[in-house]
Amino acid sequence: MSKYASEPEEEFTFNCPSCQDGILKIIKNLYDLPDKDKMLIIKFECDNCNYHQNDIIPYTTRIEPGILTLNITTDEDLKSKVYRSPTGELEIPELELAVEPGPSAKFYYTNIQGILYRFERAVLIHKNNKDLSDKERQDVEKILENLRKAINGNFPFTLIIKDHSGGSYIIPIDYSKLSFTKFDISQNS
Ligand SMILES: [Zn+2]
Repeated sequence: MSKYASEPEEEFTFNCPSCQDGILKIIKNLYDLPDKDKMLIIKFECDNCNYHQNDIIPYTTRIEPGILTLNITTDEDLKSKVYRSPTGELEIPELELAVEPGPSAKFYYTNIQGILYRFERAVLIHKNNKDLSDKERQDVEKILENLRKAINGNFPFTLIIKDHSGGSYIIPIDYSKLSFTKFDISQNS
């Protein structure tokens, strides 16, 4: 499968949604709950303005190595939250897009729409490559068209996260659209 857009890891920082200029600093805190569950609190702080935001993730949801698959069929599904750990490989096969894990990969936390916007930016950069053949350019245009439909909730697709060391997870709007397949450890060794 060809991959038109592979996003560089440096892009996994967030621009401030309030002032646009600042970079959000991300602070993670893990809390133990009385019922033995864990909860991750992520705090976002802008280095330029006063913008800040907290997000809470149930940490024990999906910690095992495996494959997470979410079917996105409505614009509501785009609000599902995604946490990609540094070892997580993220892929949207219908759009031929993927983010590979890397040694310097940082954690990545956003919603589905946020991922699509990042991909759109990467595809646009790729489109301006002068070395593309006419055929390649047509393919890129097609992907861009489908990507924009997807951003508006008009293009059903599958988001897959493969994580060999665990820690990535998805908090879906509709749990019936999420599946998890555990890696067979004996198979990998
Ligand atoms: Zn700001």
